[in-house]
Amino acid sequence: MRIGQGYDIHIFVENRKFILGGVEIPYEKGLLGHSDADALIHSIIDSIFGALNLGDIGEHFPDSDIKYKDISSLELLTKTGEILKEKGYKIINIDSTIILEKPKLSPYKKLMAKNISAALNIKEEDVSIKGKTKEKQDSAGSGKSVEVYSVCLIEKNL
Ligand code: ZN
Repeated sequence: MRIGQGYDIHIFVENRKFILGGVEIPYEKGLLGHSDADALIHSIIDSIFGALNLGDIGEHFPDSDIKYKDISSLELLTKTGEILKEKGYKIINIDSTIILEKPKLSPYKKLMAKNISAALNIKEEDVSIKGKTKEKQDSAGSGKSVEVYSVCLIEKNL
């Protein structure tokens, strides 16, 4: 078995959709980024690459590459799952913590887990998504950004 961890942060700006875990969440702002700025999926991708010791998301899907502009991060997650399979591994489980002040994520967590498990071809129950505020501290706590921490456990696919 191998473990990997991933982290991501994106800031809120006007005139962008707010997409997290492949779910479009109704909100007055969205996250800034080259792709859809899905910080949850980016942190999960980094946790998978970390477990494989294969570098980071930027090395596999460089944001300088035009083909990744505005791409759905779920597609990148699917590609990451394919790399994992090629390397002879499968995912045991994923656990993520999303840190943001608002909006409330509870109505969307199940749908996020569904999207992520479908992209990786794993069971929904093997994807845990937790929400947390930052007690009004720092950029996430003042509502300026979203931070996500993820861990992923993998094992050889025998
Ligand atoms: Zn990101």
